[in-house]
Amino acid sequence: MYEFAVTPAVTQIRRRGVEISEVLAGSIGAELELEPGDRIIRVNGRTVRDYLDFRFQASGETDLVVDIRKRSGEDWELNIERDEAEEFGLSFEQIVPRQCANECLFCFCKGNPETARPSLFVRDEDVRLSFLYGNYTTLTSITEDEMQRVIEQRLSPQYVSVHATNLEVRAYLLGVDQERADITGKMQRMLDAEIEIHAQVVLCPEINDGEILRRTIYDLAELHPRLRSVAIVPLGLTRYLNDERLTPVSPEFCRRTIDEVSIIQDDLRARLGATFAFLGDEIYLRAGRQVPSRKHYGDYPQIEDGIGMVRSFANEFKALMRRLKRKPLRNPEKLYGTIMTGTIFAPVLRQQVERLNRRFQTRLEVVAVENEYFGGDVCVAGLLTGGDFIAARDRVQGEFAIIPRVALKSDEPVMLDGVRFEEVQKEFAVPLYAFDFASLASALESGFVDPDREALETSFARPVRGQHALAPASF
Ligand code: SF4
Repeated sequence: MYEFAVTPAVTQIRRRGVEISEVLAGSIGAELELEPGDRIIRVNGRTVRDYLDFRFQASGETDLVVDIRKRSGEDWELNIERDEAEEFGLSFEQIVPRQCANECLFCFCKGNPETARPSLFVRDEDVRLSFLYGNYTTLTSITEDEMQRVIEQRLSPQYVSVHATNLEVRAYLLGVDQERADITGKMQRMLDAEIEIHAQVVLCPEINDGEILRRTIYDLAELHPRLRSVAIVPLGLTRYLNDERLTPVSPEFCRRTIDEVSIIQDDLRARLGATFAFLGDEIYLRAGRQVPSRKHYGDYPQIEDGIGMVRSFANEFKALMRRLKRKPLRNPEKLYGTIMTGTIFAPVLRQQVERLNRRFQTRLEVVAVENEYFGGDVCVAGLLTGGDFIAARDRVQGEFAIIPRVALKSDEPVMLDGVRFEEVQKEFAVPLYAFDFASLASALESGFVDPDREALETSFARPVRGQHALAPASF
């Protein structure tokens, strides 16, 4: 359902063990003459299926017997002694996601144009990726083996798409039968084993809103504190996802939902001492209402799902303003350029940027970029494509332009329509940068003479946790 740093299953053949992709010079791995392409098959007699297994089975062990299938086809058995904290210096192939067995009404895969790149059609449902990246699973088809693994390897927290505790409604939304839709026992088993869960509801008007939503929140609140929080995010429709059973989310629907849910939030805060059920930022923005205060979000338990990012962004922006007051900009007039973002976040960003311009005499502009690629009500920055930015290039003012880093793949400078960042750069008459907030702030503070390209490039090396691409608070 979401974009993450994994390879689609269709391009991979499953072999035994896990393949080593890199060996750090001078590490134990190098001393043992391990090489990229070798596979680790077993550790201390236990099968290794992926790097999580390797990490789990090797962790804390100082004496290990490791079975290797060399790239050449030879089998090695290595007896290894190491200090407990000593790293192996190995990197591994990416996890191949397990696919879901649902047919959700609102599945984003159905909202992609035919030409979208193959990884956007991967319907992942994988408890490992839930643990590693905060991807949601529905648990409808989790196997006993996977359940045992979550518990044994402490793959906590898990992120579970509940959508509704009413079985009939859940089954309808997921396109499965009610028996499969019922995950009460599975969630309870995880919670009993002290695995934390964060739940999600994709809110579909006239299906799981109103009384169904109220019941869902209260049923889940019964499982607090191990079920830590519920994120309620609005249905997103593209021009390709136009199932007539789905009703688009309107500003009026958002206002009604805020009014209904804030009563429940107040009640639960009084009883549980925490907000517990959080509405997605997009609901407040579409309703034309202020996002709640910092206190509402507590320790931001669903920030991985983009919940509270607008508030967090406003706070970070304030901190930036304070830093700039202490150490004023040397040549603020040089800071003349344009920041491009999705239509939903542009007004919020523009307000902040105008304060910055007034206070420090910078000349930054904000351009709201329409999403022509997906169409529908898609308005977040992370789903903008190369073609969308190119179409908006004539609206750029000043001497540089910035696009949100989140619009690029997490591990490669390529956009959702397959257009590479350098191709977009070529289409712009001014230098174009892809920044997250931290790199934007540091570029501003350093006078934005020539932002550090290396920082930009190295940021592609790490996978992004969570589904920030779908969060509105990105510029
Ligand atoms: S669980 Fe539903 S929304 Fe997610 S990938 Fe499967 S069908 Fe799509």
